[in-house]
Amino acid sequence: MSTGVRARNESAWLLPNDGTRTDHRLRRDMRRFSDDDEVDLVIVGCGAGGSVLAQRLARAGWRVVALDAGPFWDPDTDWVSDEAGSHHLYWTDPRVITGADPVPLGSNNSGRGVGGSMVHYAGYTPRFHPSDFSTLRDDGVGADWPFGYEELRPYYAAIEQELPVAGEYWPWGDPHGYPHRPHPVGGNGELFLRGAGKLGITAKVGPVAIANGRFGNRPHCIYRGFCLQGCKVNAKASPLITHIPDALAHGAEVRADAMVTRVGMDERTGRATGVHYVSGGASRFQRAAMVAIAGYSIETPRLLLNSASPRYPDGLCNEFDQVGRYLMVQGAPQTAGRFDAEVRMYKAPPPEVSTEEFYETDPAKEYKRGFAVQTVSPLPITWAEHVAAQGHWGRALRDYMSDYVHWACLGSLCEFLPLAGNRVTLADETDSYGLPVARFAYSQCDNDKALVTAAQHVMEDILTAAGADEVITIKRYAHLVGGARMAKDARHGVVDGSCRTFAVPNLYITDGSVLPTQGSANPALTIMAVAARAADHLISGARRGAG
Ligand SMILES: Cc1cc2nc3c(=O)[nH]c(=O)nc-3n(C[C@H](O)[C@H](O)[C@H](O)COP(=O)(O)OP(=O)(O)OC[C@H]3O[C@@H](n4cnc5c(N)ncnc54)[C@H](O)[C@@H]3O)c2cc1C
Ligand code: SF4
Repeated sequence: MSTGVRARNESAWLLPNDGTRTDHRLRRDMRRFSDDDEVDLVIVGCGAGGSVLAQRLARAGWRVVALDAGPFWDPDTDWVSDEAGSHHLYWTDPRVITGADPVPLGSNNSGRGVGGSMVHYAGYTPRFHPSDFSTLRDDGVGADWPFGYEELRPYYAAIEQELPVAGEYWPWGDPHGYPHRPHPVGGNGELFLRGAGKLGITAKVGPVAIANGRFGNRPHCIYRGFCLQGCKVNAKASPLITHIPDALAHGAEVRADAMVTRVGMDERTGRATGVHYVSGGASRFQRAAMVAIAGYSIETPRLLLNSASPRYPDGLCNEFDQVGRYLMVQGAPQTAGRFDAEVRMYKAPPPEVSTEEFYETDPAKEYKRGFAVQTVSPLPITWAEHVAAQGHWGRALRDYMSDYVHWACLGSLCEFLPLAGNRVTLADETDSYGLPVARFAYSQCDNDKALVTAAQHVMEDILTAAGADEVITIKRYAHLVGGARMAKDARHGVVDGSCRTFAVPNLYITDGSVLPTQGSANPALTIMAVAARAADHLISGARRGAG
């Protein structure tokens, strides 16, 4: 397996084979373009989607510059295995939230800096199910993608090898295996497996993008549970570790601390000319023959709206009022259970075990679509938030905190439906660059609420069956996608099936914004697979002389 992966992505082998966790030479010696060079492609955002695109196109010989608003992280010096000390990884710029069920934004939603949100994501990397691509046709809800699951299958398999993903044979959706064997599980995972087993629910170990054993010169997991704080060890995959090094080695430039403020347009031809950005307090413009935006589901629509001009008075690509719409978030209730024996859920990666038994539409239920259940294992601060969200304060909160080692915790991902009214618009408030910030309105429909209730019952049943004497559930959200979705035409979305915007022929969007549905799977693997597929389209289009 390794030989094939190495031939197409050498990131893990570019690390020095001496225990070093970062190859500083790659950054120091990377190719640098000047603003006046018309590069082949400028990418906005070096997260899940942007990094894969940069790596693929750099390998194909394209002259690529990828800009990110945040820093170029150095795991050795910038990250700490400490919950409070990791706050700087999050995108905490102001955003306005509204709607009947507003979604709190910040640490649980998006990251800032090279590697994007995957720097502090949990590490679960399931595939979407084939049914996710045609929910409107088959279930009468949601939307249909312009292409089916089979189109993504080879890209899923390729990215799973590059991260790499560890897990048991996966029996759900399109059944498949994983390149790395499943990890041993800790106390939380054992209890999940025990409770599910008693109820006849199949649960499996994985799939997680955490190296099980050495991968190239990357070290293996040491099971100390700081995956959501950046993983100083570099056992957990993020584009900073898995795709950016290979991109640099193939001539891409990654320009950190560069906040893109608008897409440059030729008002006469209607083609993008590059991006305006701010770096070190100075306003600059990078020329490019092609632009790709990959700034996350909130910032991508915001950038399109902030790029309004006389030719595009309502924002770029917004002729049919589609930008910012159909933004989705997964309902993510969490249930904790108390056990007499010590669980010590922090002593393992939080992502360990999951079940997709409830993923598909069950005709016997009143709701459509479904949910997944996974271990989550909050560290103490997040545990305090869980308990406080239940209304426990003062003495009661302290008691729950001192009892931390006796608790196990599961989380659900419920497939909330894409609704036109759930959208990003521009607020009156401005940020430190003087740009209007995003205003995100969100309301749940009845189907969404029914899913959360059903998921809560399943999680409480599992933990009770495992022997919990008390269970507490809180409601929360996770994983934003959508907001510039793929569709068959411009009246229903912002980009086509190859991620090219309908409105501007040389403008692409290659992040989670383009997803028309979300299933109940964590989205990062799908975002990377979609970006890899878009890269192939660009490469073959260039060969044909299109662009
Ligand atoms: C706490 C947490 C846990 C998660 N756990 C999981 C998990 O277990 N599994 C999973 O699949 N997913 C998980 N996710 C979600 C996953 O990380 C995201 O869905 C994914 O990274 C989104 O990819 P993206 O390319 O859309 O954006 P991102 O990866 O967020 O990348 C966007 C990048 O764009 C940059 N940017 C934004 N605007 C601009 C601008 N104007 N100029 C320049 N740069 C800009 C940002 O700094 C950022 O680096 C988790 C997320 C969080 C926050
Ligand atoms: S548990 Fe493993 S993957 Fe998670 S932070 Fe620790 S070493 Fe990294």
